[in-house]
Amino acid sequence: MIRLENVSKSYGGSIAVEHAALVASGRRTTALIGPSGSGKSTLLSLIVGLETPDEGTIEIDGLLLTPQSAQRLRRRMGYVIQDGGLFPHLTARRNIDIMARELGWPVGRREARLDELCALTRFPSAALDRYPLELSGGQRQRVSLMRALMLDPDMLLMDEPLGALDPMIRADLQDDLKSIFERLAKTVVLVTHDLGEAAFFADKIILMNHGRVVQQGCFAELVECPAEPFVREFVRASLRRIAEMNAPATASKARES
Ligand code: ADP
Ligand code: MG
Repeated sequence: MIRLENVSKSYGGSIAVEHAALVASGRRTTALIGPSGSGKSTLLSLIVGLETPDEGTIEIDGLLLTPQSAQRLRRRMGYVIQDGGLFPHLTARRNIDIMARELGWPVGRREARLDELCALTRFPSAALDRYPLELSGGQRQRVSLMRALMLDPDMLLMDEPLGALDPMIRADLQDDLKSIFERLAKTVVLVTHDLGEAAFFADKIILMNHGRVVQQGCFAELVECPAEPFVREFVRASLRRIAEMNAPATASKARES
């Protein structure tokens, strides 16, 4: 379980995260959602220990995140940063096993783990020796996921893993990711700016605005009991976008019949 209490973080006087309190339950998927600039990525990097909060506490499975415990706790978390963050000068294989090499895993163990991960993420092992630029967007995301999973962490934190993909690839990867989350039963925190995607992946949705956690609950709670006018506006705008996306298909189906 990941628990934040009263966590704030500013950069040069501008507030990125303000008095955030939230809980992401163990072995469940939690979606972190909000408009651009609302503090989602900052919150994730605070949880991963890459940034230090100005105030407040972060607990990971009952252990307090401190500068002393950060490295140990960091080992238990797989992190997929926004835009994947693959090293362009390393092959997919080297990107994935970089930490395992650092930790001195023998080649046999590394290869066995790579085989498992390729099967899990439906990535063609023949493409492991390609560089990121020689892979499709969807394949790159699968490589980022494999890198995050290589050391078999308890927690998986993903920052807009499906952000830049075209709709077909995105839908494919959404389905795969969901079945991977279900199979692995890890504690997952997934950042998205798409309410439909949040509802697809997570029982619990945490909505942020201007650095604040505005509401946490399931999709129905956000829709039926908005905590403040912003939630209603955010839900309405998201539902309108979903309706517009479906409108052309509905219209052409109506014409066909
Ligand atoms: P989101 O991921 O929701 O789009 P971010 O967490 O990236 O939002 O950013 C929240 C706010 O904090 C934004 O105003 C952003 O400009 C600011 N911010 C984030 N990281 C930094 C940084 N390293 N230095 C200065 N400002 C930052
Ligand atoms: Mg972000």
